[in-house]
Amino acid sequence: MDVAIIGAGPAGCRAAQLLAARGARVTLFDSSHPREKPCGGGVTGRALALVADAVQHAGVPVSVIRTARFTDSRGGDSAIVPLDDHGPTAASALLVASRATFDAALLSAAVRAGAIVQPARVTSIDVEAAGVRLETARGTRRADFVIGADGANSLLRRTVAHAFRRDQISIATGFFAHGVTSSEIVIELLADPPGYIWSFPRPDHLAIGICAQADAGVTSGALRARTAAWIRATRVAGPAPLTSYAWPIPSLRVSDLRELVVAGPRWLLLGDAAGLVDPITREGIYFALASGAWAADALGGGAPERTYAARVRDEAIPELARAARLKAGFFRPAFTGLMMRALQQSPAVGAVLADLVAGRQSYATLKWRLLTTLELGLAWRVLRERRRAGLLEQ
Ligand SMILES: Cc1cc2nc3c(=O)[nH]c(=O)nc-3n(C[C@H](O)[C@H](O)[C@H](O)COP(=O)(O)OP(=O)(O)OC[C@H]3O[C@@H](n4cnc5c(N)ncnc54)[C@H](O)[C@@H]3O)c2cc1C
Repeated sequence: MDVAIIGAGPAGCRAAQLLAARGARVTLFDSSHPREKPCGGGVTGRALALVADAVQHAGVPVSVIRTARFTDSRGGDSAIVPLDDHGPTAASALLVASRATFDAALLSAAVRAGAIVQPARVTSIDVEAAGVRLETARGTRRADFVIGADGANSLLRRTVAHAFRRDQISIATGFFAHGVTSSEIVIELLADPPGYIWSFPRPDHLAIGICAQADAGVTSGALRARTAAWIRATRVAGPAPLTSYAWPIPSLRVSDLRELVVAGPRWLLLGDAAGLVDPITREGIYFALASGAWAADALGGGAPERTYAARVRDEAIPELARAARLKAGFFRPAFTGLMMRALQQSPAVGAVLADLVAGRQSYATLKWRLLTTLELGLAWRVLRERRRAGLLEQ
């Protein structure tokens, strides 16, 4: 089978590697490498576990994160939570890497498996009953199947379905602070716009950013100014030179996730192009890698579009939908204030948040784990707040 993959990020590279290893003829289209991607670069242990061979083979430099510092923008409270540190391995909770080196390692693994890279941007796609035709500046290419792993602005998504609406994306913007690193991530919880500012230390720079729903009424410029003010106030980056970035992240609601279309005759959408990002933590690398593997599995059998769509529906959507349901209440001041106090008083609550950061805490059991770890007084207040906010309802 001849497979054209658009986009050599984590999703496209992973699908290319597995398909080529199984004997498919794979062409991977992307003109952007080598490149940095606007991203925290936070790779959870569960994400690294999917590609540990490729990452270790390339010796990708990573920062192993030992602690997460949570701060509350209103009260100035802060709490430090220890994270599992087993060095640069998938047993650690969280590693942070530059996307230039991380994605390059995944691309090399795909090439080693036999995928051909076309360093060209795909400019148009025709999906017909007999096959697929792609245009690039270098000419026309035909294939049996096309995979759209081309990110949040996916051309394949725009061609076969529709672009994400404004209310389906978040705008993430911020700065890379060069020459500074740390083994601590910082997360400042915000009520307005609901979300957080983060500082993720890569081996030789910090990725600092803020994120808000695109229809929240805050401009990208205002968000960036807020991040710049935060950097100055916290001195998290010292006098480091800053370069700015902005990029969309799919952030779907429960109803969007229920109706999500990720596959059709001769095409599949993966990773960000499919909308597979946790709407609270914005973890997307894990879902990009996982969907790459699901696509490769599906193309190995009959009715790949049905098999792939079922896999996404069963393995990604329930968790993403739970996160989408919790999101509205998660950043409410009453809840974050309570969480900050609970974090300061209870190491067990810290362990729950540590697992959430590491992608190990499912939203399905978050409610019960929080309630069973909080002592009685806190649990009572959480329940009261939960009733008020509609939060933690399943
Ligand atoms: C500011 C920010 C912070 C984030 N932080 C984290 C984090 O810490 N941890 C985490 O897990 N996730 C994070 N995410 C989400 C994460 O970056 C994405 O979910 C992830 O990169 C998705 O991988 P992907 O392979 O689907 O797409 P991408 O990584 O976006 O790759 C898409 C590729 O397609 C190429 N492409 C696009 N159009 C074409 C075309 N027409 N022809 C050819 N090639 C094309 C692009 O050049 C790109 O290389 C963050 C996102 C943002 C914006």
